Amino acid sequence: MSKKGLIVITGASSGIGEAAAKAFSQAGHPLLLLARRLDRLEALKLPNTICEKVDVTNLDEIKSAVAKAEKKFGPVDCLVNNAGVMLLGVADTQDPKEWEQMVQVNIMGVLNGIHVVLPGMKERRHGTIIDISSVAGRKTYPNHAVYCGTKFAVHAFTEQIREEASSYDVRFITIAPGAVETELLSHTTSKKIVNDYQEWKTTMGQPLQSEDVANSILFAYQQPQRVCIREIVLCATRQDK
Ligand code: NDP
Repeated sequence: MSKKGLIVITGASSGIGEAAAKAFSQAGHPLLLLARRLDRLEALKLPNTICEKVDVTNLDEIKSAVAKAEKKFGPVDCLVNNAGVMLLGVADTQDPKEWEQMVQVNIMGVLNGIHVVLPGMKERRHGTIIDISSVAGRKTYPNHAVYCGTKFAVHAFTEQIREEASSYDVRFITIAPGAVETELLSHTTSKKIVNDYQEWKTTMGQPLQSEDVANSILFAYQQPQRVCIREIVLCATRQDK
């Protein structure tokens, strides 16, 4: 069994999750990587890593992947609840199926992960859960109404579950990035919204890179267990709002 704790990362097939997987692997941790695109997880070729095709909206799929990894590497020390989708739109015209998908992945997916690993962490009186929210979980933006709703929810339940888990020495951390250069925007169906967003990003010079967020995740995790960095909000210096 590895001396360093097992790290579970959801949505590790691209962007922030992929960068976090590389960072934790570089720090010597065994990993369980979850996403629907298994080929992208396996292409990372990280050592001491189990890759599983899991849809985070499916509680049983998360459960069995975690059980498999714990059998090999020991108990989960940290869950990075990162999988998410951003389908921007305006309320009167957006297909409600897109709202449903955001609610299912961004809220239920995160809660499912917590539900699977928190009981063991409380029993062991040790562990860390890092939920990836967004600056859009602290303030609203045009075309982001429902996406913001899901991220405000992540901020809210993470803070309350943190309170409830604190007496068990389990840490809950919210990481809230501003715009990051990833595939996230590519799933929005309105070309105009995508183009306007891209234009806004050019005013930032260089937006955040996935590695910048991964560094924050690793930094928060690597503090002594007595220290809980409750929230990190990070944006490109030139991000204006
Ligand atoms: P990406 O689109 O690059 O990554 C999203 C990840 O989520 C992919 O690995 C995708 O994997 C996974 N995912 C999506 N749906 C599911 C699902 N149903 N089950 C399992 N995995 C799923 O975007 P980012 O890296 O930017 O996004 C990561 C997180 O960061 C998200 O929560 C996002 O909201 C948040 N964030 C991003 C910001 C940005 O500007 N990029 C800013 C603030 C927060 P697959 O498709 O293979 O399943």
